[in-house]
Amino acid sequence: MNGDTDTEIILQKSLEGKQLTLQEIEALLSIRESRSLDRLFQTARAVKERHFGNKVFLYGFVYFSTHCRNNCSFCFYRRSNSESVRYRKTDEEIIELSSSLQDSGVHLIDLTMGEDPIIHNGDHYRRLIDIVQMVDDAVDVPIMLSPGVVPREIFDQLRDAGVDWFACYQETHNRNLFRRLRPNQDYDFRLSQKKWAMESGLLAEEGIMIGVGESQRDRAHSIEVMKGLQVDQIRAMSFVPQNNTPMASDTPSPFIDELVTLAVMRLVHPTKLIPASLDIEGVKGLSSRLDAGANVVTSIIPPQKGLAGVAQHELDIDDGSRSVEQIEDSLEDLGVIRAPLSDYIGLVQDWKDVKGNGANS
Ligand code: SF4
Repeated sequence: MNGDTDTEIILQKSLEGKQLTLQEIEALLSIRESRSLDRLFQTARAVKERHFGNKVFLYGFVYFSTHCRNNCSFCFYRRSNSESVRYRKTDEEIIELSSSLQDSGVHLIDLTMGEDPIIHNGDHYRRLIDIVQMVDDAVDVPIMLSPGVVPREIFDQLRDAGVDWFACYQETHNRNLFRRLRPNQDYDFRLSQKKWAMESGLLAEEGIMIGVGESQRDRAHSIEVMKGLQVDQIRAMSFVPQNNTPMASDTPSPFIDELVTLAVMRLVHPTKLIPASLDIEGVKGLSSRLDAGANVVTSIIPPQKGLAGVAQHELDIDDGSRSVEQIEDSLEDLGVIRAPLSDYIGLVQDWKDVKGNGANS
């Protein structure tokens, strides 16, 4: 890239709604000079505001089982980590957590689990479908499910039980890197999860991790792959080294890498939902992520309920900093408001209608 002029040309192109090439995406991802960074974030914010105004959506997080049959190299909850925090919430606890999150004002309940062997056990996912049905009976907000990989024939049943969103992060779209990050897992089967979910009329989320050995070209490629998938929500989250894992002593990327990726995602995916996760830097990282173009606050967790986060299992949780009440104070300072619930429900319904199935919110 030849400095400011080239940056301006690409930013202008994205403002006009034109498709960026892989090289242009990579050039934007490489920006680190402060004036160009300001312009990048400014443009990403303008694009976000064009489509979503100053409203954000808040997602409540219920990590209901931290047991997992897999051994992802980066993950605190990998099977081999004997020092991990393991629990399974009971039905009553899952309902209570979901209901209290709804009452606190979130727009969505994100039901997340590791690939718990008790659920991924060949009984046709009856337990998982029952959990979804139970939560759907208890709350009126949309439900996202993040259960790991499931067989294709399960998606219709999950939809019928009340799932609106299916989240499953590839973390990278470089197959060699995928093999290192997710040993003994099938790249194509995982990628298909998003396609199968959408074929069943669900909305889908895809995501990547920043700082796990990927190149700038890999990040650009992921942004293009996500465009091709036509998923509805896309995320980028910084890798945070976890104790007692193979990547415990890896050096993470500076957070600016995540912020730049979020901004470029916003330019390439102007109308999609992009989360600012509280899991990486807690509440203090919220403003920089919203300023980079994010429009969803994820991983809102009620305090004192024995719940864990994913990337950082304790960060800001038990002191209540990740509650809606506290987040709203921060939003006010940033000139951003929590969207009315009806806005979100309408958006989810509209998007599902476009996918040809609007009957199950
Ligand atoms: S990332 Fe998910 S699938 Fe992998 S070990 Fe962690 S909980 Fe299990």
